Amino acid sequence: MEVGIAVEVGIAVEVGIALEVGIPLEVGIPVSGARRRVVADDADPQAAGVRPRHARQVRFTPFGAAAQQRLATSHALIVGVGALGSHVADTLARAGVGRLTLVDRDVVEESNLQRQILFDEADARAGRPKAEAAAEALRAIDASLHIDALVAHFDLRTFERLPARPDLIVDGTDNFATRYLLNDLAISSGTPWIHGAVIGAEGRAMVVLPGETACLRCIMPEAPPPGALDTCDTAGVLAPAVAQVAAVQSLEALKLLGGLRDQLVRGLVVIDAWRASTALFLRDAKPRADCVACGARSFPALTEDPADVVALCGRDAVQVRPRTAGDVDLAGLAARLGDAVTGVELRRGMLRFALPDGSARITLFADGRALVFGSDDVDRARAVYDRYVGLGGR
Ligand SMILES: [Zn+2]
Repeated sequence: MEVGIAVEVGIAVEVGIALEVGIPLEVGIPVSGARRRVVADDADPQAAGVRPRHARQVRFTPFGAAAQQRLATSHALIVGVGALGSHVADTLARAGVGRLTLVDRDVVEESNLQRQILFDEADARAGRPKAEAAAEALRAIDASLHIDALVAHFDLRTFERLPARPDLIVDGTDNFATRYLLNDLAISSGTPWIHGAVIGAEGRAMVVLPGETACLRCIMPEAPPPGALDTCDTAGVLAPAVAQVAAVQSLEALKLLGGLRDQLVRGLVVIDAWRASTALFLRDAKPRADCVACGARSFPALTEDPADVVALCGRDAVQVRPRTAGDVDLAGLAARLGDAVTGVELRRGMLRFALPDGSARITLFADGRALVFGSDDVDRARAVYDRYVGLGGR
């Protein structure tokens, strides 16, 4: 095994983390990378200004009080708080990252509950925006954290309007278009980011340090064409695989935000959760001179015209976003729709309704963006939007 998370007993572990499978360390599982030792009882984390809730983390000496203090003043942006994003947000909040910004365009549905750990049935019944529901759950875990929740499609404009620049961007997205946007934003602005992806029981994660390590475009210059890869629609997704990828993302995030840059795992971590295997590829890969982002300093995702109608992975839903953004008079529209639709529900910043034949449900946000549920047919969703909202969407 080349790297990483080793579960074999009695086999020399080259790097790092040994999972204890109910076996005490004295039996002789070598733990080399992270120098583990027991801290003397008189070492008091609270004396170093550490909150009691973080005491166990600080007692792990490769992390320690200094990293904990840096965490408390750090800021992570998590783009997408679905499966990966909600796991990472949960871990970073509990670990004491001082500021979190959550961006997600979607609402909670029952089919999310299998793997999106910050949500419950009440969130799904109410169709709550994920960013808001996640922020509320995180505040219940630690009320002292600064959490900003943005219910929005993530694009360059969203990034530029953030209330503060993040120290790190975490990939919680489910599509390559947004990942290439994250990559180009990160490289152009010099912000580290941590890629993550899961399909079925397999996943991968990679830390990208602008100017120091290979970026997503270095290892895959262009996004794969639509239909070229499995999606969570076609291959499904298992929660334990999500948890493993999110664990790698979270741990690297804690190292980075804690100032432990030299401890980062550099390369592409590939996980097969079904077979409990983890491997590191492209170890210490550097930025490529022929990479359009790292070498040529050109950032296609920042200049491309973004798609305005996209099917949402695994959702039987389509997002429609009008090019001409503007505030929608939701109350006025609700009144105009009248009996033409059913199940009209008007709430702060959001209008929901269904077609009379039950073939589609629409959640419309005040900025004109809509989620059309009931089909992944983008043309049909555009047509439904045109017919009932009437802003165009082309
Ligand atoms: Zn690159």
